[in-house]
Amino acid sequence: MKILQWQPNVPTILRGGRVVDPVLGLDEVTDVAFARGRITQVGSVGEDAQVIDVQNYVITPGLIDMHVHLRDPGQTEKEDISSGTLAAAVGGFSRIVAMPNTDPPVDSAEHLSRMLPYMRKNANVKIEPTVTLTMAAKGEAVSDLRGLRRKGASAATDDGRCIQGSAVMFEVLQCAKDAGIAVLDHCEDVGISRHASLNAGDVAQEKGVGGQSPAAEEVMVARDIVLARTTGYPVHIQHVSTAGSVELIRWAKQQGIRVSAEATPHHLSLTEEAIRRCGTYAKVNPPLRTEADRQEVIRGVRDGTISVIATDHAPHTRADKDGTVEEAAFGIAGLESAIPVSLSCLYHEHGMPLIELVAAFTQGPREVLGLDAGTLAPGAPADITILAPDKEVRIDSSRFHSKASNSPFHGNTYKGAAAATVVDGMPVRSG
Ligand SMILES: [Zn+2]
Repeated sequence: MKILQWQPNVPTILRGGRVVDPVLGLDEVTDVAFARGRITQVGSVGEDAQVIDVQNYVITPGLIDMHVHLRDPGQTEKEDISSGTLAAAVGGFSRIVAMPNTDPPVDSAEHLSRMLPYMRKNANVKIEPTVTLTMAAKGEAVSDLRGLRRKGASAATDDGRCIQGSAVMFEVLQCAKDAGIAVLDHCEDVGISRHASLNAGDVAQEKGVGGQSPAAEEVMVARDIVLARTTGYPVHIQHVSTAGSVELIRWAKQQGIRVSAEATPHHLSLTEEAIRRCGTYAKVNPPLRTEADRQEVIRGVRDGTISVIATDHAPHTRADKDGTVEEAAFGIAGLESAIPVSLSCLYHEHGMPLIELVAAFTQGPREVLGLDAGTLAPGAPADITILAPDKEVRIDSSRFHSKASNSPFHGNTYKGAAAATVVDGMPVRSG
């Protein structure tokens, strides 16, 4: 592929691409102009700038991944801010939401204040910092959400864990409402899931390991819906994996209850069968489910029940993923396969309109998090992703820019690629 390159810091026109911006309701071949790091115009633009020919490419607002584990501080052998955000840029993301379950977790204003300049210094794309809902993500004492919001936290989540006590979650939502901070929840009743390695089903039985009943997720989704209704404050359900969860969220939205949800590229494209082919590289939490679950998650994305696609990028070392199914860590390093997998599965195979798919990576996160991002509207930051939706790519995890290579997509060929990522008008990565 031709490498897209241009002079930074001069007014630029991306000419003749298919510009897809769900927030603007735009899907047409036109130009996008930017200068001094901001979008200046969308539409036919004159020549008073360097002109980059992007015919045959799709130009979108910079894609946002609202579920990324950067492992920094504490587990930088798996990933760090620099490597994780480089993987994001290569994957087509100009902005990511960093989960707070680092070591130590981000649960205090002091920690957040220390991290913010460190993140800014080392990041290759923009990072939205998050904090834990409860102190040390123990599910007991609620964090100082108001103070953390004031210090710059974009959202709060105990991701990786789920608050087991409904009274604590009720208090969390009341505090979050008072603080005006978005709540993202990993739904798992651990009394039911017992941290089992796989979905409760044929593959778990065949491997002789415990299985997580879909009920472990659905019980907590139902609880969160009830608490969102009671408090009038929105809850965002992370990585939805079961048909029952999709049905509950669809029902809640129909009732006008303020819930939103995300799905991952792996739950959209794989089932528990992947364990047979990929072994522990397909071990993830929540687990890959059945084909019926997968189809319902796809239906949920297509009908808008699930408004966000996010990777749950969970980098691990080889040693973490070696060993038996029960010993291996949960997680998939997803940043560098998300766009090929999502375009293949939803756009090419299921005929989802491109503008709707782009919305799941732009408008969806923008609305859940209240971000001033995810659009090419004049005045917005010149964060842009350039896609080659028909380009065939083979995923080679040994060439990931992430420190990790734990991917069940390794060796597979997909249709659709991120060609370049632009942050504040600067080409961060192209290929
Ligand atoms: Zn999670």
